[in-house]
This record gives sequence, C-alpha cells and structure tokens, in this order.
Amino acid sequence: MAKELKRYKLSINGRWEEAASGKCFETVNPYTGEAWALLPEGGEEDVDRAVRAAREAFESKEWKSLTGGQRGQLLRRLGDLIAQHAERLARIETTDNGKIIRETTFQLKAIPDCYYYFAGWADKIHGEVIPTDKPTILNYTLREPIGVVGAIIPWNSPLYLTSIKLAPALAAGNTVVIKPSEITSVSALEFIQLVEEAGFPPGAVNVVTGFGEKAGAALTKHQLVGKIAFTGGCETGKLVAKSAADHLARVTLELGGKSPNIVFEDADLDSAVNGAMAGIFAATGQTCIAGSRLFLHESIHDRFVEKLVARAKTIKMGDPTSWGTEMGPLAFKDQREKVLTYVEIGKEEGAKLVYGGEPPTDPELKKGYFVKPTVFVDVENHMRIAQEEIFGPVVSVIRFRTEEEVIQMANDVRYGLAAGLWTQDVKRVHRLAKELQAGTVWVNTYRTLAFSSPFGGYKESGIGKENGFEVLREYTQLKSVWVETGGPIGDPFVMR
Ligand code: NAD
Repeated sequence: MAKELKRYKLSINGRWEEAASGKCFETVNPYTGEAWALLPEGGEEDVDRAVRAAREAFESKEWKSLTGGQRGQLLRRLGDLIAQHAERLARIETTDNGKIIRETTFQLKAIPDCYYYFAGWADKIHGEVIPTDKPTILNYTLREPIGVVGAIIPWNSPLYLTSIKLAPALAAGNTVVIKPSEITSVSALEFIQLVEEAGFPPGAVNVVTGFGEKAGAALTKHQLVGKIAFTGGCETGKLVAKSAADHLARVTLELGGKSPNIVFEDADLDSAVNGAMAGIFAATGQTCIAGSRLFLHESIHDRFVEKLVARAKTIKMGDPTSWGTEMGPLAFKDQREKVLTYVEIGKEEGAKLVYGGEPPTDPELKKGYFVKPTVFVDVENHMRIAQEEIFGPVVSVIRFRTEEEVIQMANDVRYGLAAGLWTQDVKRVHRLAKELQAGTVWVNTYRTLAFSSPFGGYKESGIGKENGFEVLREYTQLKSVWVETGGPIGDPFVMR
C-alpha cells in the first residue's frame, strides 16, 4: 500500500487554508526519488487572499502602532524559536532538496543571527533633518515601509533565502507574502508556525505554495504588492521585473552567476584547491555563487588539476541526512538531466573531461539524482560550459598566462555575481578587486558571507542588495516633509 503523505495547507491571515483550486502537488525526496509530502497548488485567487490579508495587516492599528523596538523584540523571539527548531528544520530541507545535513544544519543554526541582526536595526531606521536655503523652513525625511512585500524563493537554500528577505522587510515595518519554490515548500509551512508563535499578528506573514507560472506570476502582478524580492534564475528574474513594471512595484533581483575563481602562480595552492572545491562541489554546485569557471595560471595548471581531481575522487556521495556524506544528489530529476546535458555539450565543444560527468555506479545511490563531481579542462571562455550557469557540480578549468588576459576573460560573461582571487601579491589584490565586474570579490577565501555585509549581483546577476543596512533601503521609501516655522505665507500673485 502506498505510504500516506503528510498534507500541508496554505497559511493566510494566520489560518490554514486549502487552495481555491482544491489541487495539491507532491514534493519529492531527491535521494529516494519518492514523494514525501503533499502541498496545496495555490493560484491567483489564493495569492489575492494572501496579499489582501497582508495589506490589511499592514494598515491595522496593531501593526502601525508597533515601535521599531517592539518589532525588534518579535524578530528576536523568532530567532530564538528557529534556534530551538534548527535541527528539525534542517532535516526537512535536506529531505526536500538533498543538500547535506551538515550544511543545512549549519545554515539553520546561523539563521537566528539574521533575525538578531535586523532586530538591532528595527529601532534605528530613521530619516534626517536637512538644512535648506530657506531659513524659516524645517525640512526632514521619514524613512517609511513600502507596504506588502512579495518574497519569491528558489529551492537551493529555502529558509536562508527567505530569512534574508523576511527579517529586513519586517524590521522596516512591511508585511509579507512568501511564495516558496515548488521543489522545496515544506520548510516554509513549518517555519510559519514559528512566526505565529513569536507573536507576529495574523496576516503579517503569509505563505502561498504553488508553481511559479501561476502563484509566482500572480504575486508579481498584484496591484497591492509594493515590492517584489526575488531570488532565482536570470530568465525568471526578467519576467518578474517586467510584470512588476506594469504597476511600478519595486524589485530586487538576486539571480544566477558564472563566477570566476582565479588562481595565480604565487597562491597557497592547498588553500586554493580547498577554495575551488568549496566553490563548485559544496551544495553539489547548486549555489548562485558557484566558482564554476576556474582560471589557473599556466605555471601551476597541471599540478593544481592533479590535486583537484585527486580530492574530487574522494568526495563521499551518499544519503544527505547522514553526517558523513560530503555531496548529496541534485535537487530534482530535471536538474540532473540539465547537468548531464551540459556534460555532453562540453564534450562536443572540445573541452576535455578529466573526471566525473556521469552518475555514480554505487547501487545504493541508484534511486537518487546524483552526478559525480565533474572536472573539464582545456575549456575556452567562449564555450557554453564557460558562459552558461549549469547549477551542478561541474567546473570548467581555463588556463591563463597574464593578469590582463585573465581580467578580460573573467569579465567576458553576462553575469557578475561573485569572483574569487588567490594570490599573495597585495598590489595585485587591490588592482583586481577594482577590475573584476562582480558584486562580491573574495581574496584567498571563497563562499564567505555575513548578514551584515551587502550582497548582490552586477550585470545580469541582479539588481539591488541583500544584507547589511543597504537592504533596508530596498524595503523602505523616503518622504520629505516641509514645515514653515516663520510668519504668515504671502499671496503668491502679489509681486514684492
Ligand atoms: P527559478 O527562477 O526557476 O525559480 C525561482 C522562484 O521563482 C520559484 O519560487 C519559482 O516558482 C518562481 N517562478 C518561476 N516562474 C515564475 C514567474 N513567471 N513569475 C514569478 N515567479 C516565478 O529558479 P530556481 O531554479 O528555483 O533556482 C535556481 C536559480 O536561483 C539559479 O539561477 C541560481 O543562481 C539562483 N539563485 C540566486 C541567488 C542569489 O542570491 N543571487 C541565490 C540562490 C539561487
């Protein structure tokens, strides 16, 4: 008999609700290939209910009368609750997207700090008094919330990417409708229970699950949504921006990347190999900041590739819920097909596959959507495997001779999310930090992030920033107030 699947409901205005369509969809564990939960297929009607609830909450006396300090208290309580439930939520995310338990646990244990960080800002968001050339005028600005924020989330780090939107949005006084990815929606519906337990009023945060083309699109075009905070693929991001433009909603777009990771001849090679591994094989390569183009100076190229491949061969693939596993499956079947298709493209383009490029043969891994860590050498920067985001454990190694040449190649791509640089030469560090067209540059490290430091892409990797005070600008609008403090106002049509 088929196993009974846990059935979830939408969370709208503090209530559990079925989708108006009455339809559900399955979410699949990518390690077993089996469905493990059922989610409501939300659509336009559900999104409309959720947005209206969020707008009502935004305009309510209860929400408006909260001080920044009180919102900060709520955020701190939410952070505490996430800390208490971190292991359970990490297990849910690992079951849903196959990311190894070590990494989801690390992420979930870090997420409370996001709420604590923005709780600290909640009572420090303010305007300023501005001197003008009019002596009797008092001019000041008010930094105010926008209203309803639509947060659209991808599948690779669901609660982390939700939190870096939700915490600043709430700290600034907005209310939120979350549309999680259809691949990984369960953690959002478990998490929303903590939001309520923390004491946020009904409607302040709502979750509508469903597919992007329906639920996601309905959120982006809803007239009452004042801002869309989107993380996902580049092409979807463009659709989101176009739809939001129709009613001039603000957008922040955190999109894909094809980040260069550059190793010079004077680098500490062992550290750089670890950095390259973290850049492309961590999270099975399913990170926006993957260092998927590895530029190696010709003098260290062969030695480096040897070390990289030797280490790649020892990566332990397996059950992502097991602590010993180093690389899990890809998050869903089509994603594995996409990765394998790119392996074929790379071969056809003339790149040399030196390791991986296929699913493992271990019978225990047969049902999961695994692909071995994959290394291509002799890649040229114009090839598709060097220009397009694969979002899997595939690294394209490109040889270079001079600094000028590598800068030119590193920047010759439509993306600009991040870049890595491995060298001991301090002058070169600062030259390249300026030259590289990327929103983040890492020097002798890779994949390092903090809630206090702004993150976001250049070029087609996105618009706007997340994290740091910068993100609070994205969730607020500025009002300029003019007050006449002097005598009576004269008739404007009487010449003096
Ligand atoms: P995706 O673009 O397919 O989906 C992202 C979200 O958008 C999902 O919730 C989906 O349902 C929704 N969506 C799909 N079509 C939509 C539409 N027409 N209107 C509104 N919403 C729609 O991305 P994905 O495959 O889930 O995630 C992988 C992508 O995310 C990669 O490109 C990766 O680089 C990017 N990403 C970027 C960052 C960053 O911070 N820059 C972080 C993580 C992932």
